[in-house]
Amino acid sequence: MIVTAPKPRHPKDMSAAALIDPTELAARSRELEGATPAEILKFALSAWPRDRIAISTAFGVEGCALIDLAVRIDPAVQVFTVDTGYLFAETLELRARLEARYGIQVTTFAPAETVAEHEHKRGKLYTVDTDACCAIRKVEPTERAVRGLGAWIAGLRRDQSSTRAGIQILDLLGHADGSPLVKVSPLANWTRKDTWKYVLEHEVPYSPLLDQGYTSIGCWPCTRAVRPGEDERAGRWNGAKAECGIHDVGKGQEPEQGKPTS
Ligand code: SF4
Repeated sequence: MIVTAPKPRHPKDMSAAALIDPTELAARSRELEGATPAEILKFALSAWPRDRIAISTAFGVEGCALIDLAVRIDPAVQVFTVDTGYLFAETLELRARLEARYGIQVTTFAPAETVAEHEHKRGKLYTVDTDACCAIRKVEPTERAVRGLGAWIAGLRRDQSSTRAGIQILDLLGHADGSPLVKVSPLANWTRKDTWKYVLEHEVPYSPLLDQGYTSIGCWPCTRAVRPGEDERAGRWNGAKAECGIHDVGKGQEPEQGKPTS
């Protein structure tokens, strides 16, 4: 399913009401530090109704592991991705393999403009301004994808990079209208080795690029294989930046304590 237009979702969910209090959320997050990823997913998938919680994935090894873990708890869990138009063919093929293996349909959010329209207006923007290109082709579709959600599950690990070292298992974010959005990171305490162990033991499908020296996979113009000794995200933007901005979505918009939530 390709989504190019705003998709309204249902606005209210009071079952997770306790988790919009920053103090309670932080306490629950600390409690979950000793939980396994499956236990964290089980908690999150029972705290929010199915139409208010979704997994985001760019089909890295973490996203593939998360899908496998989550469908064991809820076979109809919502999964979404953003197709910038610059994805590797291997990534699109992996999406189809995961859908077939798990019987899910990954909702794909696309930028408002096709690559042809984008390049006609701006040229190859990724060669001159990756921040602007990511804002148009990754961040805006992600903002649309999480609109109306109460919880957003992502495959971030603390040991991936210094930019991810401070993530919490439950982070309170917010929507532009002031309503809360909780970011759930079940893999926060997993290492790269833990993730691969799970994927190999459970025969989870993963990208063939990961067997060719790539350790983090994004758009083809901005991703290369890493060299021995390099950080696992060094192949993204050739090391010029560490993040595309999608994990800043919802930051700075946290609801104030006691504020109504719709
Ligand atoms: S990763 Fe590169 S091609 Fe993809 S949106 Fe960002 S700048 Fe553009």
